[in-house]
Amino acid sequence: MSATAERDEYERLVLDSVDRFLEKDVRPYAMKLEHDDTYPEDIVARMKELGLFGCIIPQEYGGLGLRPSTYAKIIERISAVWMSISGIINSHLIMSFIVTKTGTEEQRKRFLPKFATGEIRGGLALTEPDCGTDLQAIRTFAKKDGDHYVINGTKTWISNGIHGSAFALLVKTDKDIEPRHKGTSLFIAEKGPGFTVSKKLEKIGYKGIDSAELVFDDYRIPAANLVGGVEGRGMTCAITGLELGRLNVAARGVGIASAALDEAVKYSQQRKTFGKPIHQHQAIALKLADMVTKVHASRLLVEHAAAAVDRGERCDFEVGMAKLFATEAAVENALECMRIHGGYGYSKEFIVERLYRDAPLLVIGEGTNEIQRIVIAKRLIENNPI
Ligand SMILES: Cc1cc2nc3c(=O)[nH]c(=O)nc-3n(C[C@H](O)[C@H](O)[C@H](O)COP(=O)(O)OP(=O)(O)OC[C@H]3O[C@@H](n4cnc5c(N)ncnc54)[C@H](O)[C@@H]3O)c2cc1C
Repeated sequence: MSATAERDEYERLVLDSVDRFLEKDVRPYAMKLEHDDTYPEDIVARMKELGLFGCIIPQEYGGLGLRPSTYAKIIERISAVWMSISGIINSHLIMSFIVTKTGTEEQRKRFLPKFATGEIRGGLALTEPDCGTDLQAIRTFAKKDGDHYVINGTKTWISNGIHGSAFALLVKTDKDIEPRHKGTSLFIAEKGPGFTVSKKLEKIGYKGIDSAELVFDDYRIPAANLVGGVEGRGMTCAITGLELGRLNVAARGVGIASAALDEAVKYSQQRKTFGKPIHQHQAIALKLADMVTKVHASRLLVEHAAAAVDRGERCDFEVGMAKLFATEAAVENALECMRIHGGYGYSKEFIVERLYRDAPLLVIGEGTNEIQRIVIAKRLIENNPI
C-alpha cells in the first residue's frame, strides 16, 4: 500500500470511530446536557480516549497527526450532532497548533505530549473586555523580571476558561513600539497563583462549554513559556493559530447548516397540511432547494480551504471565504429550518431551536464576518493589481 493510501485508510478509520462515538456517546445526551448547561465530563473522557485532544498534533509528539482537512471533517461531524463539544477541542488545538508551528523545540517537547493526551487542556486567551477585533489594543501587560515575567490584565469570553488549565495568552510586552503588533507576545500560561477565573459568562447558546473571564494579578510566568522564545511575535503566533480556528468555525458552519437541512427534510415529509406533506408545497420545496445548495457550496469551500491549510500555504483568502459563506449558511439554514417546523420550531423539544441559538456565534467567533469580508476584499485587490 502506498504511503498516501495508508494515510487515507488511517484517516478513514479515525472518522469512522468519531461517527460511532457521536451516535453512541453524544447524540442521546446532547439535548439534556445543553439545556441544563452541564459540562459534558463523560464525553470529554471519551474524547481523551479517542485521542481527539491531539488529533492535529504530530505523531512524534504523541498526537494522531491528522491533516487539517481531516480535522475539518471531524468538526463538521461533531457540530452536526452538538456544536459545543467542538469548542472543547478547538481552542485547545489552536493552542497546540501555535506551539507546533511557532514554539521552540523545547516547548514542543514539554507541552505537546500532555496536550495530546488531554492531561493539559485549555484554549486561547486573546479577547479583553475593551477589545476583540482590534487585538493590538490589548492592555494585558507582561513585565520582565529576571527569568520570569509578571502579568497583569483581564481576558474575557475565554472558551474552556473554567475547565482548562493552560492558555495561549496574548499580552503586550512593549506598550509604545510601532507598529503596535511588534509590542505583543504570546505565552503558554498554566493556572497558578495570580491567575484566577473571575466569572462564568452566560450565553444564549453554545451551552455545556464554559466561557469565562480570566484575571491575571501579578501572575508570575517563566520566560521559558514565551512562545518561540522571542518577544514581539505575539500577533504572528495568534494569527497562525487563528487560521486553523477559522477553518474549524467554517466546518462548524457546514455541520450546523447540514443538520438544519436534515431536520427540515425529515419534518417536511412528516408534517401534512391541506392533505399533503409540506415539502409538496412549492414555498417549502424552494426553501429546501436553497438549503441543500448552501450545504454543498459550503462544504466545497471548506474542502478547498482545508487543502490549502494542508499544503501549508498562506490561505487567509480561502479560509476567509469558507468561514464567511459556511457560517452565513448555518444562520440562514437554521432560520429556514425553524420556519419549516412552524410552531414546533419554537419548541425546546425539537433540535432546531438549538441550531438557531448556536449558529450566530459562528459569524462572530475567530474573526467576525465583517472582518472576513475586509480580508477577502484586500487579498482580492492585492492579487489583481492593475
Ligand atoms: C461564545 C464565545 C466564545 C468565545 N471564545 C473566545 C476564546 O476562546 N478566546 C478569545 O480570545 N475570544 C473568544 N471570544 C471572543 C470573540 O473572539 C470576540 O467576541 C470577537 O473577536 C469579536 O470581538 P468583540 O466582541 O470585541 O467585538 P468588537 O471588536 O467590539 O466588534 C463589534 C462590531 O464591530 C465590527 N467591527 C470591528 N472592527 C471593525 C472594522 N475594522 N471594520 C468593520 N467592522 C468592524 C465587528 O465585526 C462587530 O460587528 C468568544 C466569544 C464568544 C461570544
